[in-house]
Amino acid sequence: PAAFDASPIPEDAPVLPFPPGENYFQLREFSFTLRDDIYVRFQSFGSPQELERELQKINPYKIDIGAVYSHRPSQHNTVHLGAFQPMEKELVFDIDMTDYDDVRTCCSSAEICSKCWTLMTIAVRVIDRALVEDLGMKHRLWVYSGRRGVHCWVCDDAVRKWSPALRAAAVEYLTLVKGGAETVKKVNLSEPIHPFIRRSVNVVEKYFEEYALVGQDILGSPERWDKVLALIPEDILSHREPLQSDFPKKRDSVQRWELLKGKMDAPCYADWEIMLQYCFPRLDINVSKGVGHLLKSPFSVHPKTGRISVPLDLQRLDQFDPFAVPTISSLCHELDAAGDDGEQEDGGETEPKRRVRDYKRTSLAPYVRVFEQFLEEMERARRGEQLRRSGKRREEKQPAWGPGGAPWLWGAALFL
Ligand SMILES: [Zn+2]
Repeated sequence: PAAFDASPIPEDAPVLPFPPGENYFQLREFSFTLRDDIYVRFQSFGSPQELERELQKINPYKIDIGAVYSHRPSQHNTVHLGAFQPMEKELVFDIDMTDYDDVRTCCSSAEICSKCWTLMTIAVRVIDRALVEDLGMKHRLWVYSGRRGVHCWVCDDAVRKWSPALRAAAVEYLTLVKGGAETVKKVNLSEPIHPFIRRSVNVVEKYFEEYALVGQDILGSPERWDKVLALIPEDILSHREPLQSDFPKKRDSVQRWELLKGKMDAPCYADWEIMLQYCFPRLDINVSKGVGHLLKSPFSVHPKTGRISVPLDLQRLDQFDPFAVPTISSLCHELDAAGDDGEQEDGGETEPKRRVRDYKRTSLAPYVRVFEQFLEEMERARRGEQLRRSGKRREEKQPAWGPGGAPWLWGAALFL
């Protein structure tokens, strides 16, 4: 690909160049939040180096990434009205702990702790499974937001071109908890139970006892178990009173849950409904639906916590600790230390070379590796697809093109 030099496309070109090259980068919106909440949208850059220079110059508090547009975002005012349109964006999900305040007993609003962080672990497991197994998606990057939530960037070629309607449909498929603060019962299941629900319950079940019964102790006091019992549907209301009188005789939430589950005979799914209301991921549809919606950049610093927004390694998701993530100040200390060592070891080395190696000496290195692996996987898939396409084209068009036709050569050149 290094040898592949896409010629610049005209400013008014209706289609985007593919494979994503330099032009794709130039059409991408960046937005910055500056001091005093000054918000600058529609920034775009000719090259990553130009972006880097601008970041160093203006020092933004927050960096967001937007869509790839029909024209360079920085020139959107020079294009006639209506012509400037978002063309592509990753499908994104934003899961925020504040949306779980009605079912958390340990923290509220922006606070998180290791107990309620399990909700984010469950969210990633449930959504990621569905993205891969149910919706056929391949390239998902999960990122810790730096404060109280997680983001997902789905980067598959086809998905990046999805309309808002398709994005909304995907979120709707992935939504089970419905209704606002006034709605008591937010999950309602009926037969036939969709496989997505069954598989999601399988995921939740792995965490439910330790998270909800032991950690959150959701049946630990009359006040708490009344909240749970209020979710048992009207038609089996007769179960509520016996449970209320038997619950005090049981030792803890685990025993009380056993009792409750024992009372729920098929075809009643009240226990599943309770599990899902307490644990199932809560997505913000507006973030995912809008192609022009912006989302905080991976690896940027969270302005409130100073923590780096780091990619999550799904192989080791259960061990992820949001409080152990490097912060801007911890990284500065590490880099200072690495810098001192570096000067002693190899005195006269040039500045850029040392910079590349320095990050590898910080606690950010494993997170960068996760990101690199994600990119390598995408690059491998892209090359494979190009090869497949050029091979297919050669087969189909062989009589017209003749052996050794141009598309095949083009594909081979890219691959080599
Ligand atoms: Zn908590």
